[in-house]
Amino acid sequence: KTLMTALILGATSLQAQVLPNAAIEKKIDALLSKMTLEEKVGQMTQITIESLLKTQDGKVILPMTLDPEKVDVAFSKYKIGSVLNIGGDAITRDAWQKRIEILQKAALAQRLKIPMMYGVDAIRGNNYTLDAVMFPQQIAQAASFNREHAFRVGEIAAYETRATSVPWVFSPVLDLGRQAAWPRIWETYGEDPYLVAELGTATVKGFQGSNLVTDKFHVAACLKHYMGYSMPLSGHDRTPAWIPERELREYFLPQFAHAIENGAKTVMVNSAEINGVPVHASKHILTDILKDELHFQGFAVSDWQDIQYLHLRHRITRDNKESTMVAVNAGIDMSMVPFDFTFCDDLIALVKEGKVSEARIDDAVRRILRVKYEVNLFDEPLNNPKDYPLFNGKAHHQANYDFATECITLLKNQNNILPLKQGSKILVTGPTANTMRSLNGGWARNWQGTNSDETEKNHNTILEAIQQTFGTQNVAYEAGADFSKLLDVDKAIASAKNSDVIVLCLGENSYTENPGNIGDLNLDKAQIEFAEAMAKTGKPIVLVLAEGRPRIISAIEPLASAVLQSYLLGNEGGNVVAHTLSGKINPSGKLPYTYPRAANSLINYYHKYTETKAYDEAAGYDPQWEFGFGLSYTSFEYKNLKLSSNILKPNETLTISVDVSNTGAREGKEAVLLYVSDLIASVTPEVKRLRGFEKIALKVGETKTASFTLQAKDLSFINSALERVTEPGDFEVKIGGLKADFVYKTE
Ligand code: BGC
Repeated sequence: KTLMTALILGATSLQAQVLPNAAIEKKIDALLSKMTLEEKVGQMTQITIESLLKTQDGKVILPMTLDPEKVDVAFSKYKIGSVLNIGGDAITRDAWQKRIEILQKAALAQRLKIPMMYGVDAIRGNNYTLDAVMFPQQIAQAASFNREHAFRVGEIAAYETRATSVPWVFSPVLDLGRQAAWPRIWETYGEDPYLVAELGTATVKGFQGSNLVTDKFHVAACLKHYMGYSMPLSGHDRTPAWIPERELREYFLPQFAHAIENGAKTVMVNSAEINGVPVHASKHILTDILKDELHFQGFAVSDWQDIQYLHLRHRITRDNKESTMVAVNAGIDMSMVPFDFTFCDDLIALVKEGKVSEARIDDAVRRILRVKYEVNLFDEPLNNPKDYPLFNGKAHHQANYDFATECITLLKNQNNILPLKQGSKILVTGPTANTMRSLNGGWARNWQGTNSDETEKNHNTILEAIQQTFGTQNVAYEAGADFSKLLDVDKAIASAKNSDVIVLCLGENSYTENPGNIGDLNLDKAQIEFAEAMAKTGKPIVLVLAEGRPRIISAIEPLASAVLQSYLLGNEGGNVVAHTLSGKINPSGKLPYTYPRAANSLINYYHKYTETKAYDEAAGYDPQWEFGFGLSYTSFEYKNLKLSSNILKPNETLTISVDVSNTGAREGKEAVLLYVSDLIASVTPEVKRLRGFEKIALKVGETKTASFTLQAKDLSFINSALERVTEPGDFEVKIGGLKADFVYKTE
């Protein structure tokens, strides 16, 4: 294989297909020509709702009402174009409508009547509104390997968000979940760029629908956090990452490119620094790559106060004004949290001083107005609550349950202890057994998800659902341990002795962003000690994990007969755990990340095991459970792996098919994963790469054929010259333990 014969795919495969709509561009031209500099800068400004609330002695006066004076300053003086966030705890749908109405009135009272655009962290549902459906978090969604469900989440979350007159959501997260300690890994779709790209794009399509302009049921999506945010060396949030350009382009960029190619409207920027450069100051990443190379037509919003942090945290500028200059010139279009409007005053001055060009300002404003037109804000600045009868309705809750059934992942099932027999005497115990917080995680009615036990009372915890499923008379409960301290262990031991089986619920409490930083990826010592105490009773343990990241459990995994990963399954999580224990649900989730065995071996599935095998077997890829691992209550057999040809040429398509049969005693679903290995390449090839997946349902005895197609571009990688190439040579296809070879030839 030589580079000489390599087919250079260049940017074409990543190029955005989305072109501006001529009618909208005309409207923007007309509007822009009338705007003053102050009005333009206002459009580039996004303030928090907190900054508009009535306060006394610095504290918000409840209920959270808007302060008319503050609203007036924001809109009449600064002409701001966008507002975000919640203001504290979740509010009702009506309260949202009233809030947006006041803000929209203030915006439309200005000279040019430009509507403001509210943005909200409606991730996996409109989770800042009371009663809105809360789906599994992204990490759990990824385990489903099911694009249709991801699409549905986007669609329903969009509907329920638009039902509160909010047209913009800060979702999905396209960061790669590879640093297991990072407190935001649960917001990702896991460690594989293809999986992230596929589910992320499906979600974007669900959010945005096919024609946002004429449609009041969809919202603009926001891809975040562009890019390279998820790999902090320290594992702590918003800390530096070192990602060479080749790796950035190979692993971190494609999912953004794919979603942009499919029309994603907005992008939020990575708060942290890569290779010593804060991304908010990187013209290379924000303009050269995002706007020039990917032809992104929407706008880039900063993350929280991040322009100011160029000075305060990153120390690359001397003051706020210099930070504003650097960020806007780098390509930031909208400043989230303008630090008491300093951003506006400084930016106006910078333009007058010639340090930021008017052309740059016009470009930013054009992008923002474009999205405002595209979400139909000018014609429908407020939505009518009556148009959204399905909000919090049965169909949405059913979709939530159905999705969660495909996320839950069975990791161990010794002697088929699961499903548990009806009539079994069950002890339910552990810190995650009886709380909605460990099912919903963060961004649940408030930022840290701290009050979901109060707000989600009408949903079942794991304990409540087990009681309903197996009969209260058969279920005992002892908390036994808290997240990091032992409680009444003796009581739990006594209760275990009277039970047939222990359902031990361990994991994490809810957290979001840096409050979730940890120094040790091992599960808390108290929980491990508690598991050991339970094991000493001699009763079989079914370990249920409810956690946002894979906490290391290698010390206690051998003590459990079964292990069920429930991630953060959302409001149906309790039911789905109980129904999986009872066998009503046949689990079909597969791990979207590598479950590490030890804190010092955080590697993903590409790792070249052979590098160290000769000396140290365990130093290779030897995790607790591999990426893509998950068991079922039935069994599947893979047969007849066929390729349409054993030669692939440029502009040709290779079809790969495999027969999958359900050889067990009950129906089930199977995620069929297609891996391809490039056997020899100019850059050390990964052991294998996920290049396709399909989720199929099979009745007992049924066989279905899963088929995939591959083209040269699907085998491409970034070479050391930073070009996207597919090098001719030998490839190997792997599906479900079967293998087949083909050759890629350019002549
Ligand atoms: C987070 C973003 C979020 C934003 C607005 C930031 O702290 O990093 O993911 O969208 O806040 O709430």
